[in-house]
Amino acid sequence: MQVITTKSGATTKECPPVGKLIILTGPSGVGKGTLMRSLLQRHPELHYSVSVTTRSPRPGEVEGKDYYFISRREFEQLVAAGELLEWAEFAGNCYATPQKAVMNQIRSGKRVMLEIELKGARQIRTSYPSALSIFILPPSISELEKRIRGRAQDSDEAIARRLRHAQEEISAADEFDLQIVNDDFESALNSIEAAIFS
Ligand code: ADP
Ligand code: 5GP
Repeated sequence: MQVITTKSGATTKECPPVGKLIILTGPSGVGKGTLMRSLLQRHPELHYSVSVTTRSPRPGEVEGKDYYFISRREFEQLVAAGELLEWAEFAGNCYATPQKAVMNQIRSGKRVMLEIELKGARQIRTSYPSALSIFILPPSISELEKRIRGRAQDSDEAIARRLRHAQEEISAADEFDLQIVNDDFESALNSIEAAIFS
């Protein structure tokens, strides 16, 4: 609660603006990142939470924009200091959402977007039940594999690991508020947009 003094000297109490936490989750390669980029282009007022990861940067990835790339030791220090909203190990690397920036943005009334995998999304659903959680599904497993291979950014071993995870992740889809199939890109984007701004 914030006490506001008006020009006449009277005081009123107002609740600070409160934003919204929105999670996009779904198997690797389903198109979350691509959907997110289009969403942020259409709606610059959304705040994207940049994660930390111990994964090495892929060609073209930018520090501070795609991820904060840190060492495992730095990651462990963040965990120990309680500075992470959620964290998870995925396909041999660690990923996490830094807490402070997200909370500041929500307090200032922003809609904050997280693009995270299943275990982290579950943690957020437990700690922030009011978050809106959206699960992105592929039209089929074979299409998912095609997209991961088409991205040409992972080794064969990493692709196999990501596909093994995908089955498990997809079977958890109905834990989330909304399931959207990313078949036709524009339709999927419009459905996400409708959910966020409704
Ligand atoms: P994720 O972030 O979920 O791992 P990406 O956003 O990197 O997935 O997308 C994986 C690949 O799938 C990219 O090459 C992207 O261009 C492609 N892709 C995304 N959405 C679609 C779609 N609706 N139809 C076909 N290809 C898509
Ligand atoms: P990639 O290595 O393809 O960038 O990401 C692998 C997976 O980690 C993706 O499913 C992505 O959504 C997820 N991820 C990215 N950032 C975070 C994060 O901060 N927390 C969690 N739990 N997962 C994340």
